[in-house]
Amino acid sequence: MVLMPVLPPALPAPVADALRQAVGERELLVDPDRTAGYAVDWTGRYAGATPAVVRPADTAQVAAVLAICAAHGIAVVPQGGNTGLVGGSVPLAGEVVLSLARLREVGAIDPVDGQLTAAAGAPLASVHQAAAAAGWAYAVDFAARDTATIGGTVATNAGGVHVLRHGSTRGQLTGIEAVLADGRVVSHLAGLGKDNTGYDLAGLVCGSEGTLAVVTAARLRLVVPPDHVVTALVALRDVADAVAALGVWRRALPGLQAAELVLADGLETVCEHQGLPRPFPRGAGATARAFVLVEVGGASDPTHEVAAAMDEVAGLYDVAVATDPGAAARLWCYRERHTVVIGEHGPPHKLDVTIPAASLAEFCAEVPARVPRAAPAARTWLFGHLGDGNIHVNVTGVDPGDVAVDEAVLGHVLELGGSISAEHGIGTAKRRWLTRARSPVQVEVFRSIKAALDPAGILNPNVLLP
Ligand SMILES: Cc1cc2nc3c(=O)[nH]c(=O)nc-3n(C[C@H](O)[C@H](O)[C@H](O)COP(=O)(O)OP(=O)(O)OC[C@H]3O[C@@H](n4cnc5c(N)ncnc54)[C@H](O)[C@@H]3O)c2cc1C
Repeated sequence: MVLMPVLPPALPAPVADALRQAVGERELLVDPDRTAGYAVDWTGRYAGATPAVVRPADTAQVAAVLAICAAHGIAVVPQGGNTGLVGGSVPLAGEVVLSLARLREVGAIDPVDGQLTAAAGAPLASVHQAAAAAGWAYAVDFAARDTATIGGTVATNAGGVHVLRHGSTRGQLTGIEAVLADGRVVSHLAGLGKDNTGYDLAGLVCGSEGTLAVVTAARLRLVVPPDHVVTALVALRDVADAVAALGVWRRALPGLQAAELVLADGLETVCEHQGLPRPFPRGAGATARAFVLVEVGGASDPTHEVAAAMDEVAGLYDVAVATDPGAAARLWCYRERHTVVIGEHGPPHKLDVTIPAASLAEFCAEVPARVPRAAPAARTWLFGHLGDGNIHVNVTGVDPGDVAVDEAVLGHVLELGGSISAEHGIGTAKRRWLTRARSPVQVEVFRSIKAALDPAGILNPNVLLP
């Protein structure tokens, strides 16, 4: 399967006219030079083509656009920041791109409930800034924060580095506003603390990858940021020791809010490509094979607790500790720059998976051995959110359409009882795997839900369901 751009025909003139009327002349892009950037994904692995990109300014315009597309049977791909990693946000079969990028408003914070409403196109970082300015924090955070949008994080049920403490996006969502495929608006943004009135539509749309509705706004629960944060980069003998250490830290450190895994070859490449100093240039740390970035928060300084917890860990070779934000940011670079550095080695196959803790060390040893048997020129990179058993398997040096690699990795994930999609979704990349990961009855239920909300199948028709 090689994914080639499909050259779509132009939109019929009456449709283009109606869309121009809905969003204004300037916000319907049809020139291929202007639409090209919307048709290729962040990794460069998925590239398509579109007859048009529509850029509505508000919910009413999103509703008008979808009503027009529904009336003419035109398929639509909703797009936020286009940082998704499973080929779900780009038009691979000539769909119209519905960009939410102009819906950027972040509303006032309710000081009692600690909630805010953000429009779908608001970058994740803008929500962090608004929350911080009022003494709150938003729990969902990851390296693409400046570009990924709130709508995209809802659509993918994004996770990130603090899931271990606060859960994924679904756990932060107290309400949603969304436009259905036919243009009707469902708005439920009251953010009530308790509300058991029927089905949880926000929870259903969250993680549906643009296949059930287009998110236009989300009501988000904020958290109280810790007064003190200690960040430590811990050098360990191997992955098995890292997994065992996680158990120790979980029990000893109630303020544990992140535990991120990187391996020696990934760390070395990040240092080389980004010009960063080796964190452990000498001594036992220089021979470590696994590194965990640990973040611990507290109302009082947790440094002593962290030091005591480190003493209990077997196979610990060295620790670098940061207690101020600048030093912490420098430690986070070793983890967060992995994605960018891997991208410099060519379009990566991204296979984001969850592995049960008991099998994590075996998985990290087995995958780099299995992948070259499927694709001899391949290079495998493993890193991820240790706290959730979530490994980002990245494979470079393979043809974008090479599915033998997927079989080697995802097949092993299923053998171990893991999940083929931890946080990025199914998208286009893993569609054919859905029936191997979910029972026929579950897939039938998925299809029924899709048919109920989008009977004509115009919303992201090539994503998620096989
Ligand atoms: C460097 C880097 C690090 C990352 N780290 C993480 C991480 O730690 N955790 C994590 O979960 N993800 C991570 N991601 C993946 C990505 O950032 C998330 O999936 C993010 O939620 C996508 O947001 P977006 O606005 O870019 O969505 P897009 O990429 O535009 O879209 C993603 C999917 O959501 C749909 N969609 C987008 N907006 C809407 C909307 N308003 N309504 C309905 N459907 C919509 C699209 O159709 C598509 O299926 C990372 C990506 C990069 C590049």
